[in-house]
Amino acid sequence: MSRVAYVNGQYVRHGDAAVHVEDRGYQFADGVYEVCEVWKGNIVDMPRHLDRLGRSLGELRIDWPMARNALEFVLTEVVRRNRVANGMVYVQVTRGVARRDHFFPSDDVAPSMVVTARSTSPKAAEVQAAKGISVVTYPENRWPRVDIKTVALLPNVLAKQNAKEKGGKEAWYIDVNGNVTEGGSTNAWIVTRDGVLVTRPAENGILRGITRAAVLDLVAREGISFEERAFSLDEALLAREAFVTAASTLVMPVVKIDDTIVGNGHPGSVATRLREAFHTATDLQAVVA
Ligand code: PLP
Repeated sequence: MSRVAYVNGQYVRHGDAAVHVEDRGYQFADGVYEVCEVWKGNIVDMPRHLDRLGRSLGELRIDWPMARNALEFVLTEVVRRNRVANGMVYVQVTRGVARRDHFFPSDDVAPSMVVTARSTSPKAAEVQAAKGISVVTYPENRWPRVDIKTVALLPNVLAKQNAKEKGGKEAWYIDVNGNVTEGGSTNAWIVTRDGVLVTRPAENGILRGITRAAVLDLVAREGISFEERAFSLDEALLAREAFVTAASTLVMPVVKIDDTIVGNGHPGSVATRLREAFHTATDLQAVVA
């Protein structure tokens, strides 16, 4: 079966999908995106993803490319046409196509929109989660507006590539105060020696992850001891456990930070419990949808 992408109003063969050379996303990274998990054919937490997309667009003063319910339809349709049961759907909206000029184009330039979807292996993800991942620290070098989910991901690309070359699967950014901000494409969490789950507040220095929000709901429901505050790399190195969250990884245990083994070197009980609870919650969403 051939893959299908949505590009500016048309469903096209994935291999033929293309945007104009003067698309502002291509030339200035002048655009935003969302990645949603697809689980049992259902787009997980779509309302929250679209709320955040709307916020990102608003912060950059880019118009919605279409009505919200039409966008929901296109996302669902791309998932359906690609027969994705488990995987990801990606949507990107840019300020549109215009002669290269830093200033915003005139109001008649419409935003561009691209949607793609692909399948992933739930089995491979569970094998990875059962082992856990290593993270490699990296100095925080991004602009202060990381709360906007822009396609300007070059610092994230470099941090993650550095992690990969050092045997890790994710980068952890460390700010000038020695605190962990977040991962290259994930939010960061620890469980302290005293058994308290900690993650950084979303107000400053991180993206407000949709998976983070969903996990916070589960934390409250499960009555897990929790503090929302900054935590340092030193504290993380002494932690009982650590994990990351994202739509692409869900709750993924971290078993090594640079050269230091976290806890006993195996996925921790809190991370494992939250990953299971997350699956249960997304199962429920798929049944209701
Ligand atoms: N932080 C960064 C920098 C990200 O790129 C992502 C996801 O791509 C996340 C956090 C996690 O966000 P979400 O849970 O919405 O996938």
